[in-house]
Formats: sequence, C-alpha cells, structure tokens
Amino acid sequence: MMKFITDGMCGGLARWLRLIGYDTLYFNIQRKIELIRIAEKEKRIILTKDKKFAEKYPEIVFYIEGEDTYSQFKEVVKKFDLEIKEENLFKRCSICNTKLEEITKEKVKNRVPEYVYQNKEKFALCSKCNKIYWEGDHCKYIRERLRNL
Ligand SMILES: [Zn+2]
Repeated sequence: MMKFITDGMCGGLARWLRLIGYDTLYFNIQRKIELIRIAEKEKRIILTKDKKFAEKYPEIVFYIEGEDTYSQFKEVVKKFDLEIKEENLFKRCSICNTKLEEITKEKVKNRVPEYVYQNKEKFALCSKCNKIYWEGDHCKYIRERLRNL
C-alpha cells in the first residue's frame, strides 16, 4: 500500500486517506527539506498545494489542484489508483494516523455515551489519542461519499 505525507493546506485530505486505510502523515512545517527527508526514508509520496515545491522534486512531490478536501481526495484516489475496500475502512485514527485496535464492549463502559454503549457492539481504540471509535452516523455519511466518488 502506498504511503503519503500531506503538508500545510492538505490536512483534511490526510484525514480522508486515513479513513480508507492509507498511512498518511501530516506536517505543517516550513522546512520542506524535512518533508523530503522523511519521504525518502519512509518511501512516502508528498502531496502539496505548493506548486514550486512539487516542481523541484517531481519524483516524490505531487501538486494537488483541488481547492476543497473532497476534490483533493478524489484527485488523489484517481491519480494513484487507490483502492477503497470495505476491510480497510475506519482502521486508522483519522486524527493521528495510528492503527486502531479492537476493544471489547466491556472495556468501553463509562468511556462512551450511554446510548452508544447500549446500541453498538464493535469498538476500536487509538492507543495514542486514547480515543474510542464506533460505527456511527458519520460513517454512513463517509460511505455514501465514497460510493459517489
Ligand atoms: Zn489517534
């Protein structure tokens, strides 16, 4: 699976790529050379809104035309022919990119709202953010948008 880095103006794009399972780092730093170093070391592709940056390192930096998150996401999916598979959805923390771990229902009691505890069976944990995820309404919305890609 391809791995990415998004920079400054593509934070929302990073979240979408994580949602479909792609390992994506996000950095909002000025020193572009740092990004290049990380990308080379970890074999990542850099996605940017900075045209000059992309022109300077054409092998690993790609300019993204889209202005809003969703069109940027569409653009990247097409360009790199990314796979959107059910088994890869919602497997990474959309905030920090960490792989989620399954967590038993008993363990989330008192850590999620009561109605969620009553109505949901499957939960996942980001061990870095300590955030608990479950299949909620926003997942439905995301699936719909993915179908319409
Ligand atoms: Zn996280």
